[in-house]
Amino acid sequence: MDLRINPENEALIEKAGELARDVLARYADECDQEQRFPRESFDALIREGFTRLTLPESYGGRALWRDPVCYTMVFHELSKGCTNTAMTLHMHSSILYFLLTLSDEEQKDRFAEAAQNGAIFGSHAGEAASSPQWNRTITTRARKDGEEYVINGQKYFCSMAGEADHYVLWCLLEDVEELQAGLRWAVLDKNLAGITIPSRWDAFAMRGTASHALAYENVRVPARNIVGTGEGILQPDFVPRFGLGYAAVYLGAGAASLDWIVDYALKRKLLPDNVPIASYPAIQRQIGEMKIAYETALIMIQKAAWVLETRGAEKAIPFINEAKYTASEAAASMTEKALKIAGGPGLLNDKPLQRFHRDARAALVMPPSTEKCLQMASNYVLSQNEAKSIF
Ligand SMILES: Cc1cc2nc3c(=O)[nH]c(=O)nc-3n(C[C@H](O)[C@H](O)[C@H](O)COP(=O)(O)OP(=O)(O)OC[C@H]3O[C@@H](n4cnc5c(N)ncnc54)[C@H](O)[C@@H]3O)c2cc1C
Repeated sequence: MDLRINPENEALIEKAGELARDVLARYADECDQEQRFPRESFDALIREGFTRLTLPESYGGRALWRDPVCYTMVFHELSKGCTNTAMTLHMHSSILYFLLTLSDEEQKDRFAEAAQNGAIFGSHAGEAASSPQWNRTITTRARKDGEEYVINGQKYFCSMAGEADHYVLWCLLEDVEELQAGLRWAVLDKNLAGITIPSRWDAFAMRGTASHALAYENVRVPARNIVGTGEGILQPDFVPRFGLGYAAVYLGAGAASLDWIVDYALKRKLLPDNVPIASYPAIQRQIGEMKIAYETALIMIQKAAWVLETRGAEKAIPFINEAKYTASEAAASMTEKALKIAGGPGLLNDKPLQRFHRDARAALVMPPSTEKCLQMASNYVLSQNEAKSIF
C-alpha cells in the first residue's frame, strides 16, 4: 500500500488543519448551542478554495477525486475543528463531483461556474417513508410538462436546507418504478416557488448541519436542470464515496476528543497528590485504548481510499464499509472514554467533550449505518467463500 501524497496535496492537508484550528473550531460550539449553520466557517472555506476541491482544474478547482487518500485526510483535518462543517462540505464536494461527471457540456459549464463563484450544493435523497440505504426507493416524482419538469415530494434530513444555493434532488420520473430506469437528479435553485421547510432540524447531534425537512409542491424546474440516468447515478463510483468521507469526518470527532483530553489530563491536578491525572495508570490505559482505536480506524480509511484510487470503486466498496464501521465505532468509543477520563467536568457545556460525543453518535446511523456495514461485510466474505467453493 502506497500512501504517499504529492507535496501540493500535503500542503492542502496542512492548510485544512490550520483552517480547522483557526476558524472552524472558533464557531463550532456556538453553532452547536444555537443550532445554526456555520456560515462564518463556510465563508472562510469559500475564500480559501475549499468549496472547489472537486471542481476540475479548468474551473479553478483541485480535481481531488483523483486522490482519495488526500481527500479523506483533508476532511479528517477539517473535522477536528468542526464535524458539522466538515460533514456538510463533504456532501457538497461529493455531489459536485458526481453532478459534473453526469452532466452534459452545457450543464457542466453552468454548474461548475456556479461552484467556481462560491455556490454550495446540497444532496437530498432521504425520505421519511423509506430508508434509502436499505430499500432504495424514492417517492419524490418528476413529471415532464413541455420544457419543464414538475416536482412533488417530501425529503427529510436535508443537510444545508435553506443554506445551500442549490439542492440536488433525487427523484423518479413519473410512471417509472425502477430506480435503474427512472432515477434522475433535479438541480433546484433553493428559492424556487413551491419549496418549503415543513419542520426544522432539532436534533441532539450534528446540530449545526441545518438538516431540515423540505417539501416540494408543484415545483417547476427547467428540463436543462435534470441530470443523469438511473444507471449513471447508481454506478459504484458515487454513493460509496459518501460513506468513505463520513468515516474520515466522524473520526475527526474522536481525534478532537483525544487531543483535548490529553491536554486536559496533563494539566489537571488533584490534591493531595498534586500531580497531573495523566500520571494515573487507569487514565493512561484509557488514553492508550483511544489512541489504538484511532490509529486502527485511520489506517482502514486510508487503505479503503488507496484501493479506491488504485483498483476502482467496485473493489473498494467492502473496504469502505469496513472503514466506515470501524471509524464510527472508534469515534463513539473515543468520545465516551474522553468523558470518563475528564470525570464530572467533562459534562459541562463550556467544554467541548459533550459535543464531540453527541456528534460522534450520528456516525453510527449515518449511511451506511453500522448495521448496514456489518451486513455488507458479511455478505462480501460469504460470497467470496461461495465463489471459492464453486471453483
Ligand atoms: C446528521 C445527518 C444528516 C443527514 N443529511 C442528509 C442529506 O443531506 N441528504 C440525504 O439524502 N440524507 C441525509 N441523511 C439521512 C440519511 O440519508 C437517512 O435517510 C436517515 O438517516 C434515515 O434513514 P435511516 O435508515 O437511518 O432510518 P429509517 O429509515 O427511519 O429506518 C429505521 C431503522 O430501520 C433500519 N432498517 C430499515 N430497513 C432495513 C432493512 N431492510 N434491514 C435492516 N434494517 C433496516 C434502519 O437502518 C434504521 O435503523 C442524514 C442523516 C444524518 C444522521
